[in-house]
Amino acid sequence: MKSFVYVHEDSDFTIYNIPFGVFKKEGHHGVCTRIGDTIVDLHQCTTTTIFEGIELPEGIFSQRYINSFISLGKKITREVRRRLQNGLVTGGFLDNDMFKESTIFISSDEVTMLLPVHIGDYTDFYSSREHATNVGIMFRDPANALLPNWLHLPVGYHGRASSIVVSDTPIHRPSGQTMPEEAEKPVFGPSRQLDFELEMGFIIGKETPMGQTISTDKAEEYILGLMLFNDWSARDIQKWEYVPLGPFLAKNFASTISPWIITLEALEPFRISGPQQEPDVLPYLRYEGSKNYDIHLSVDIITESGASKRVSTSNFKYMYWNMCQQLAHHTVNGCNVRVGDLMASGTISGTTPDAYGSMLEICWKGTKPVQMPDGTERKFILDGDTVVMRGWCEKDGVRIGFGPCDGKVVGEWK
Ligand code: MN
Repeated sequence: MKSFVYVHEDSDFTIYNIPFGVFKKEGHHGVCTRIGDTIVDLHQCTTTTIFEGIELPEGIFSQRYINSFISLGKKITREVRRRLQNGLVTGGFLDNDMFKESTIFISSDEVTMLLPVHIGDYTDFYSSREHATNVGIMFRDPANALLPNWLHLPVGYHGRASSIVVSDTPIHRPSGQTMPEEAEKPVFGPSRQLDFELEMGFIIGKETPMGQTISTDKAEEYILGLMLFNDWSARDIQKWEYVPLGPFLAKNFASTISPWIITLEALEPFRISGPQQEPDVLPYLRYEGSKNYDIHLSVDIITESGASKRVSTSNFKYMYWNMCQQLAHHTVNGCNVRVGDLMASGTISGTTPDAYGSMLEICWKGTKPVQMPDGTERKFILDGDTVVMRGWCEKDGVRIGFGPCDGKVVGEWK
């Protein structure tokens, strides 16, 4: 497939992608997709017959959030995406001078991308075996790095949705309590160990009532698509506060997501089988088929002066527990899910140090600093640094990507 719209060969937004997002331009906003560097305004598309026959409520694409649209169900979202894809190929419905010169198409540099989803509940898992092992070695016991439950269930906790922000939102260094080494009392002050966590998040597109479980083989019906997710973490605050209930203020000050929801349909060609699970899991966590995705991931740190260093190259395929198992586990007790809920994977670390998904692991608790090209070094993230996350899939000449998941640390709240 090829589009009549120019698409650079390295673009995340090829004709195979067709993600959903929400843009803002001169005071109005709306649901859109993107092809190359061109935004396609879906509300303006409804002035044509491109969606003819699809039951779309009036004004569904001119809303601030995408929730109403995705709550129409996968049959509708899938068909809208298919029509857009067919319309954007060379010779397709939109390949017409009248449309090309209309307000349907907007240059991407004329818009600001907004947080696309009104996120209801947010859950963070801990599903990378390599990450859990690294953390276990550093903070507990190298001989028993994984806790006894880890290979039997996808460990998770309920996070905070209110402070999830879209790519490019400035990140403030949190203050809080820490317990310095060998001190007798905790102290209060700005975190000195601000870190990122390289994760992916998925958005729930279909709700369940309380009491209904979601089986692993039905789970994909409830997942609209994926985004990049940076679970910013203050390690010094985390270390002191996390016992016994887990992370709290060390993580709820901000999380960054990329602005585009990449649908499961777009990711279909990049399915891959996950790691062998040993020991056997309980029946409700068993699954059939390939449930992992081959998504290349990277993290760069860019300093205030513009010096840039790639500190991680990982892949979503390393996840030990897949999204279907996470959702089956999340609902096995009757917990309901709602449209717009976000579930994140947990830090995605690969097997080698260059594939670790947090500075905590990359610098091994500060013992192996990263050398930056400007001569400075990093153990954690400093004020003025921008953390840049990218994700993309590539196979048989087909490429799709996730767009930016960037955040600049601007110092403390004033
Ligand atoms: Mn996390």
